[in-house]
Amino acid sequence: DTRKETLGFQTEVKQLLHLMIHSLYSNREIFLRELVSNASDAADKLRFEALAKPELLEGGGDPRIRISFDTDARTITIDDNGIGMSRDEVVSHLGTIARSGTADFLKNLSGDQKKDSQLIGQFGVGFYSAFIVADRVEVFTRRAGLPAAEGVHWSSTGEGEFDIATIDKPERGTRIVLHLKEDASEFASGWRLRSIIKKYSDHIGVPIELPEEFHGEEKDRPAEPEWETVNRASALWTRPRSEVTDEEYRSFYQHVAHDFSDPAAWSHNKVEGKLEYTSLLYVPSRASFDLYQRESPRGLKLYVQRVFIMDQAEEFLPLYLRFIRGVVDSSDLSLNVSREILQKDPVIGSMKTALTKRVLDMLDKLASNEPEKYAEFWKQFGQVLKEGPAEDAGNREKIAALLRFASTHGTDGEQTVSLADYIGRMKDGQNKIYYLTGESHAQVRNSPHLEVFRKKGVEVLLLTDRIDEWLMGYLTEFDGRSFVDVTRGDLDLGALDSEDDKKAQEEVSKSREGLVERLAKALDDQVAQVRVSHRLTESPAVLALGEQDIGLQMRQILEAAGQ
Ligand code: ADP
Ligand code: MG
Repeated sequence: DTRKETLGFQTEVKQLLHLMIHSLYSNREIFLRELVSNASDAADKLRFEALAKPELLEGGGDPRIRISFDTDARTITIDDNGIGMSRDEVVSHLGTIARSGTADFLKNLSGDQKKDSQLIGQFGVGFYSAFIVADRVEVFTRRAGLPAAEGVHWSSTGEGEFDIATIDKPERGTRIVLHLKEDASEFASGWRLRSIIKKYSDHIGVPIELPEEFHGEEKDRPAEPEWETVNRASALWTRPRSEVTDEEYRSFYQHVAHDFSDPAAWSHNKVEGKLEYTSLLYVPSRASFDLYQRESPRGLKLYVQRVFIMDQAEEFLPLYLRFIRGVVDSSDLSLNVSREILQKDPVIGSMKTALTKRVLDMLDKLASNEPEKYAEFWKQFGQVLKEGPAEDAGNREKIAALLRFASTHGTDGEQTVSLADYIGRMKDGQNKIYYLTGESHAQVRNSPHLEVFRKKGVEVLLLTDRIDEWLMGYLTEFDGRSFVDVTRGDLDLGALDSEDDKKAQEEVSKSREGLVERLAKALDDQVAQVRVSHRLTESPAVLALGEQDIGLQMRQILEAAGQ
């Protein structure tokens, strides 16, 4: 009984396959990186599960990934002795995409090949990239620990359905056979495979083996080839910084982040002393499509003494740094560490503090050394970083220094002004940082509240993101200067006025006492106070907020929520 079945791919898989095959045409070789990456993950998972259940190792076999090819038959075979998959796992892992938000993501693809190939890279192409070069893919797999008779054969042409059957598979692990398309026959070549492995997978910690070239006579060819390791096969983060090239750091990023754009920055550190751990942290250059979704993947890959423990360990970084990717390898944690333990262990707390500081320092460096790259970073992740001052009071000043704002100094509403820039442009006698929040840049730019500032040449930060008013609830000071909302109470711009200005203002106030009284009476229960203002130069009147009032943006949010 082989329990043969034909099943349909989930709709999202069909869409992804279609898009991938058509938009990744210029970068086809990445299929190998993806399949090797999966084989390496499978070795990691086996090593981890075998800690508790040594019988899963089935008597041995060091982890390795073997890649062979047959030029005449036009096939490439990728064979690993990792964790393997059960029948149920095959159906769900190689038939669906579990990640939430996928359907929305796919809807947003434009049909423009170049743009889409970038976006798909962000999504992580994974296993399905096999169909970039193959018109038929076969998978032979057996989960470690299951009997030999519970192997699984999966095969598909990538057009909507796949066949699945139960087979005998004596060796644990997964073998994938790619039947190459005619125009992809170039990949069934030893030197081509070797160069792709060197390029993308040199950092993989598991040996990747190719058959050794055989130069003798055909009749002497051995039945089983000699295998030769082609990658460096030592976990990249365990090597000294000076021995790792930028190229290697970049391709390692693509492996851990499932993103095939280059990272914007990275920081690799070995910490010794009371706590011992190595971290390799990356700032991506682009936000993933689900950055704002609650269950989107986040966190670091956790290793303990080089043994993979878990993906997406969230406990090492605060939420506002959830876009950071990378690896942390600890020597202090137990190999049996679980998510529950991570949440309670004080060691994790100290690591989190140190890693957070690392990231903030890395961003600070990026901002000062490569301002253009930082500007791009801000566009991608600025909104998330703005959650920082509320979440992480201890680093408020550091985070504030990383924020970028639109202001009256610029004209286009681009968020490019740092608080340091602002302070550098402060007028003599000015000791406050002025800001105005609102719905849109066009609206705040024309606000009558800005008139007096324009007249005095004082810069005002213009905040129009949804999160801004909430952010300003937590930012009270920067570099010893307090923040002042220009719509609130007395502005106290006195220090900026000349003696003549002051005298003139007093005279105006006196001469308008009668008017103020009449207005106060007429508007009695609608306003708290009426006063002569020196903040306007063109508009006759303006509504201002009291020092303690809820801001306008916040009011709208509360009203919308039915409060
Ligand atoms: P990802 O690696 O991001 O999870 P993939 O599309 O590359 O996505 O792989 C989907 C899933 O299929 C993996 O998460 C894993 O569970 C399973 N898988 C793929 N290749 C292998 C393999 N060689 N051995 C065991 N499981 C695998
Ligand atoms: Mg993968």
